[in-house]
Amino acid sequence: MTGRVPAAPPAPRPPVRPIARRPGGDPLIRLFHVSKAYATGTFALRDLSLEIRKGELVFLTGPSGAGKTTLMKLLFAAERPSEGQILVLGRNVARLGERRIPALRRRIGVVFQDFKLIPTRTVEENVALALEVVGRPPREVRSKVFAMLRRVGLQHRRHELPPALSGGEQQRVALARALVNEPAILLADEPTGNLDPELTIEIMDLIAAAAARGTTVLVATHDHALIRRYARRTLRLEAGRLVEDVPGAAR
Ligand code: ADP
Repeated sequence: MTGRVPAAPPAPRPPVRPIARRPGGDPLIRLFHVSKAYATGTFALRDLSLEIRKGELVFLTGPSGAGKTTLMKLLFAAERPSEGQILVLGRNVARLGERRIPALRRRIGVVFQDFKLIPTRTVEENVALALEVVGRPPREVRSKVFAMLRRVGLQHRRHELPPALSGGEQQRVALARALVNEPAILLADEPTGNLDPELTIEIMDLIAAAAARGTTVLVATHDHALIRRYARRTLRLEAGRLVEDVPGAAR
């Protein structure tokens, strides 16, 4: 800013001020005054407004019960907000019809703390399923699954069942499954919560690599060492409110 005196007085403010666009990619996720109350009366989120741009990797932190999982659920329409608007990939997910939800979810990969792999299907089958359910032809499924398992370093274990794998390996399979569809957005809810520090870095490096290729990533975590190490934008929730939005130093 130069501090020059403006030539004309500023125009009067419109009644609802649009959220300022940050420099960089287009916003892929936008929340406007979102609140979520569950049927029990608990307010999981209160008056939350934020935006996340294409290709950003954003940490979401805060104590247990702060609303992190609820925010993720709202983004892939597993829950609906009680108030406010949510735009994800240009769609208003607060109002999205049930029939349109699968098309939204196809563009969002999700990983969880407990992996959620199918224990009776091989590594390869777990990853393939993500492509089969969207009707990709078998030849494409085979080549994409192989390439994705190679990217996460697990092609040699592709015929094994998940329970035979370590926690870190299982999370790599879950990541491969989440990313094989080349989603626009990756939501990771405590993805390293069950892993030791070394495996945590391994998984987080794969997540950061997905962001470097253009996937917009939101990672919920309690792990402050992880947040410090990657130095990305960090949102902090407390009792359902956004109390901090700290820009990253690494990008
Ligand atoms: P976090 O992921 O940060 O631990 P959550 O989003 O899971 O937080 O929970 C936020 C608040 O909403 C908590 O008080 C929790 O008990 C409550 N909550 C979450 N899910 C439900 C639900 N399905 N029904 C009722 N209350 C819920």
